[in-house]
Amino acid sequence: INDLSEVVEADRIHVWHHLSQHKQYEAVDPRVIVEGKGLRVWDATGRETLDAVSGGVWTVNVGYGRESIANVVRDQLLKMNYFAGSAGSIPGAMFAQRLIEKMPGMTRVYYSNSGSEANEKAYKMVRQIAHQVHGGKKWKILYRERDYHGTTIAALASGGQEERKSFYGPYPEGFVPVPHCLEYRSQWGEVEDYGLRAANAIEEVILREGPDTVGAIILEPVTAGGGVITPPEGYWPRVQEICKKYGLLLIIDEVVCGVGRTGKWFGYQQYGVQPDIVTMAKGVASGYAAISCTVTTEAVFEMFKGNPNDPLDYFRDISTFGGCTAGPAAALENMRIIEDEGLLENTTAMGERLMGNLNALMEKHRVIGQVRGKGLFIGAELVSDRTSREPLAEATVAAVVGAVMKRGVQIGMTNRSVPGFNNTLCLSPALISTADDVDQMSDAIDGALGEICG
Ligand code: PMP
Repeated sequence: INDLSEVVEADRIHVWHHLSQHKQYEAVDPRVIVEGKGLRVWDATGRETLDAVSGGVWTVNVGYGRESIANVVRDQLLKMNYFAGSAGSIPGAMFAQRLIEKMPGMTRVYYSNSGSEANEKAYKMVRQIAHQVHGGKKWKILYRERDYHGTTIAALASGGQEERKSFYGPYPEGFVPVPHCLEYRSQWGEVEDYGLRAANAIEEVILREGPDTVGAIILEPVTAGGGVITPPEGYWPRVQEICKKYGLLLIIDEVVCGVGRTGKWFGYQQYGVQPDIVTMAKGVASGYAAISCTVTTEAVFEMFKGNPNDPLDYFRDISTFGGCTAGPAAALENMRIIEDEGLLENTTAMGERLMGNLNALMEKHRVIGQVRGKGLFIGAELVSDRTSREPLAEATVAAVVGAVMKRGVQIGMTNRSVPGFNNTLCLSPALISTADDVDQMSDAIDGALGEICG
């Protein structure tokens, strides 16, 4: 392609971009990204950007332009590209084995193609277990306010971000919300042990609904799109206790936190919990191929033994492209890179540096209400007043993000809970970030806050 202006025009006229409306097509300078290397991307006009959000949505964990991943995918595609997931493949088997090594207590990997789909599989497992093991009881699935689990209808039904849900009902039954756990926006005023209080709120919902109707709860280890919410002290151990007490399956959505983002292989491993089902997608192959996984314990797998006399008594689910070999081939190489380059350690070290930089900016910029995060997954909540914690107006936050972009760095804004409350700056750069890179990010934010918020 010689004429990139033709590409830009085709994009403008024919591509219906995610999360966009007609007016945006007219207002926004169209951006077609044509190249990436490491942490940096270039658009069709040649403009270079330091990507502090790993492809926009916490995905490209090992960075752009990885030749070794491209090569293994190419070789694999030439050798064997596809056969339905009922048959095995070399990368499918080998990635499952390597993954399970990183997840003590888990044994089985079910392949699909997106985070939403991985969560749908988990819900279908819970529902089938309700039918086959619990005689039709324990069919409800709890989810948490502010968490996000995907875009399909059942995934949205379990989504805790109301503004995403408004136009797409009616939703399937049996998805029940529990309170969020963001102490900064405490629902119970100032409480001494907020973590325990927020976890106990889950027990209250179980008791209200009836324990024999509730089969599972799905939670993000650190809530991503809902505002980068790190769990408060004491929260996870109590959640685990509650799940045991009432026989709930604990589903952990690692779509964002998984595969290194927080500095451990999985986010739940930061908090010492043992899940029954884990879902993952984005960073599994860093966007070099589509792959998602629903990983279970052997106990969950065993529940699908069902009735040996009924030939249809199995998990009645298939994902056509869950049999593609490019996904697990890319995922294996992605995992090798993380190990060989020491990227978990780097994530912890660079995450601490970036957190430190942003915390230091709090002295200078009164609009930063709180900085929170784990590893290279950090949010800075902006407020118009530190005492009242009034959220900074969304338009001003957007202007800050724009001013950061003007300085050559792309960050995100998040916190979708209620409209107009989208006031958390979000940083989630690739795990290969260097000290210079993270300093460039915080310098850009420093300059932008000075320019926009004075
Ligand atoms: N879970 C979480 C925590 C997510 O952030 C996302 C995507 N933003 C999903 C699930 C859905 O993943 P996908 O877009 O691949 O369906």
